[in-house]
Amino acid sequence: MGKIIYGIYGASGFGREVMPLLRDMVSSDSVDYELLFIDDSIGNKSEINGYKIISFEHFLTMPAQKRYVNIAIANSNIREELTHRCLKNSIELIDIRATNAIVLDSVSMDSGSILCPFVTLTSNIKIGRSFHANIYSYVAHDCTIGDYVTFAPAVRCNGNVTVGDHAYIGTGAIIKQGRADRPLVIGRGAVIGAGAVVTKSVPDGMTVFGNPAIELTKENLKRRR
Ligand code: UDP
Repeated sequence: MGKIIYGIYGASGFGREVMPLLRDMVSSDSVDYELLFIDDSIGNKSEINGYKIISFEHFLTMPAQKRYVNIAIANSNIREELTHRCLKNSIELIDIRATNAIVLDSVSMDSGSILCPFVTLTSNIKIGRSFHANIYSYVAHDCTIGDYVTFAPAVRCNGNVTVGDHAYIGTGAIIKQGRADRPLVIGRGAVIGAGAVVTKSVPDGMTVFGNPAIELTKENLKRRR
């Protein structure tokens, strides 16, 4: 039959933070399994923190009963590309959840998510594919989050907020609560700078910074100095 192989895709910073979370999830399984890293630029390193690092091609050829992957790479475009690569090869994407992450009522999430330690998702939340919530982030009630969204550490996303696909929310950003009839919208591919306080909707693709958050332009940067 062979064993079950769990691969963390990406053996860099985030991957090394996520591996122990996966280890905690599978260590109670009695079945034969192996945890390893998959990385396309492994150089001359063959292991890190006691785990093998192998290429995706090697991963595909290992004898296994079943293979699972989680893509622990912060860049959302890479995540999307590698997600398609996995799905094309019939590899299932798994969710990783720290044992102390809290998920309350009516939360739906597509596959491939990572909920790091101390993350909280409260109630009535819909989240797309491959969501990353880094340590100490929260998502409050009635939020809708798209595909390949990335929350850096300690993001505070309050209620009635809609976040578009591929948005990146920087460390410590605060997103003000929207209204039930008019959510605050973070556009597709928008970038919210570290520590920003977002008080109104952000258009698709725009980068904002500061408190209150404004568009990142040379003039605005000068004005805020
Ligand atoms: N990577 C990969 N395949 C790709 C793109 C990236 O295996 O198509 C690996 C890359 O070699 C690196 C990791 O993913 O080891 C990304 O690391 P980085 O430090 O850029 O990001 P982070 O770990 O902070 O998300």
